[in-house]
Amino acid sequence: MNIPVIFYHKIDKPAADSLVRGGFTPPRRFAVQMAYLKKSGFVFYTASELIEHFKQHGVFPENGLAITLDDGWQDNYTNAFPVLRQLGIKATVFSIPSVIGEMSTKAAAKGEGPRAHLSRDQILEMADCGIEFGSHSLNHRYLPELTSGEVKLEVEEAKNQIEQLTQKPCLTFAYPAGYVSDEAKEIIRAAGHTAAFTTIYGPTDTIDLYALNRTEVLRRDRFLFQFARKVKPLQQSSSVS
Ligand SMILES: [Zn+2]
Repeated sequence: MNIPVIFYHKIDKPAADSLVRGGFTPPRRFAVQMAYLKKSGFVFYTASELIEHFKQHGVFPENGLAITLDDGWQDNYTNAFPVLRQLGIKATVFSIPSVIGEMSTKAAAKGEGPRAHLSRDQILEMADCGIEFGSHSLNHRYLPELTSGEVKLEVEEAKNQIEQLTQKPCLTFAYPAGYVSDEAKEIIRAAGHTAAFTTIYGPTDTIDLYALNRTEVLRRDRFLFQFARKVKPLQQSSSVS
């Protein structure tokens, strides 16, 4: 079964000094991709809505898709949000509460300097317009390298702070850099999240709600046919179980 969730990082052109450029999707290309999804008949769910549907029905919704963005970069507001709002597309941002409103390297790729994250006001405006905010941990530390006390803090405090800000439940989690551990899974579940996402790609035989695969859209998906080929397997009919 394919998990109908795609993810992005930065919706921007790479900076001149960016060594790792895979996480950048240029704004115009993002707009073309979103228009394509809409035209292809996808139905858009936030991450928590998609999971809720799965828990109730044992399958993902027909043509359902969740678009997710990791790290909460400010370009998500300036470059992605106008497109999503105009097309009426729901999405989910996995935010790092300790860097809200700041320039930070906590989630930066190798060699990258500080980069702006979403401000509180931007998050509130987006949350008002169909964008869901999930957790990407408090500090974007790699959970398998931490003590259980540290993992608890990263998970519980992030959820708390996001809920305080948005005044909405923070139900889903994305692992920093995709690093999962059994202990982290259990702590995330116990904290009240309904699901957690990795960065692993491809179909799975069984569904582990606390280690869900996602399909990454990369800078090298330059042409629309490449993007189309990537999202096609995620489009499920009601007969798929
Ligand atoms: Zn990240």
